[in-house]
Amino acid sequence: TSPRLRAVLDDIPTYKPGKSAETGGPVGYKLSSNENPYPPLPGVLESVTAAACSFNRYPDMACTGLMSELSERFGVPQSHLATGTGSVGVAQQLLQATSGPGDEVIYAWRSFEAYPIITRISGATSVQVPLTPGDVHDLDAMADAITDRTRLIFVCNPNNPTGTVVRREELERFLDRVPDDVLVVVDEAYREFIRDAQVPDGVELYRRRPNVCVLRTFSKAYGLAGLRVGFAIAHEPVAAALRKTAVPFGVSQLAQEAAIASLRAEDELLGRVGSLVCERTRVVEALRAQGWTVPETQANFLWLRLGERTMDFAAACEQAGVVVRPFPGEGVRVTIGEAEANDILMKVTEVFPKER
Ligand code: PMP
Repeated sequence: TSPRLRAVLDDIPTYKPGKSAETGGPVGYKLSSNENPYPPLPGVLESVTAAACSFNRYPDMACTGLMSELSERFGVPQSHLATGTGSVGVAQQLLQATSGPGDEVIYAWRSFEAYPIITRISGATSVQVPLTPGDVHDLDAMADAITDRTRLIFVCNPNNPTGTVVRREELERFLDRVPDDVLVVVDEAYREFIRDAQVPDGVELYRRRPNVCVLRTFSKAYGLAGLRVGFAIAHEPVAAALRKTAVPFGVSQLAQEAAIASLRAEDELLGRVGSLVCERTRVVEALRAQGWTVPETQANFLWLRLGERTMDFAAACEQAGVVVRPFPGEGVRVTIGEAEANDILMKVTEVFPKER
């Protein structure tokens, strides 16, 4: 017999990372994990190299330098900040801080696939509220789903994998309906890619609402996916609880220094984001001109609802040299990458049948 393990782990959904570009062909572009295609900035690389010289030491557990930079950048007290091993690490800390057996966690579905996993691990129950037919959060239905067991609600804005957003008025109306003792996590992993002025900045919501927590990451716009650093902005009791539930030393010194250097190089990094947003516009317009239905995306990826043809489409992409992210039976999420990769994608979509 093996050691007794928690029964909740038995049917836990497994996190499937986006496949890497092992196409066997001459080119392989990875458009499967919403990464930033630009290589690290030389200055950021230098700060990481310098930090690497002392990796025999533990990192600064309090992330002092990074906290101070973030505090200044967002105009929030350091006591309202918490860091973690990627924003998925912070999300797990949020679950640990708020939810356990008997508690309920509400989120839209489909959305970020880590939500059901970390909810299950916490012992709490997932309450998944289907997206609207237009692939947008159904905030009315989410508010209707609140019970006295609800402890946490995720609002993924923009939503992964659809790229769709919820706008100011509807989000404010929703937040008005959430009881004060329920934490609303606005997951803004793709915040920097938003160009729709009607989408509220979660940080502004947090300033007026003690039960709002904003989740951000250095993985996407800042290009530090491999270094694992994310953070939350929340009022003091929540931020303090996040620091308690963090894995000790979970953010390496390399990650801390890279994050600080990235904040200081923000203009250049956000310029790259601007170029990716232009690519997004180019790809979405081309696909629509080809006859595809593409939901309005404000992230660095787009969503094609291919249903049963999902795996065929993913295989066609792979054959052509780009790896995308299929959700079997539902659709394909394609990251906006470098122009050459996007061009290959558009060649596939041009010939792939639009309807059955
Ligand atoms: N939130 C959302 C919505 C995401 O899509 C992702 C990454 N796929 C994350 C959080 C986690 O990113 P990271 O842990 O790299 O910060």
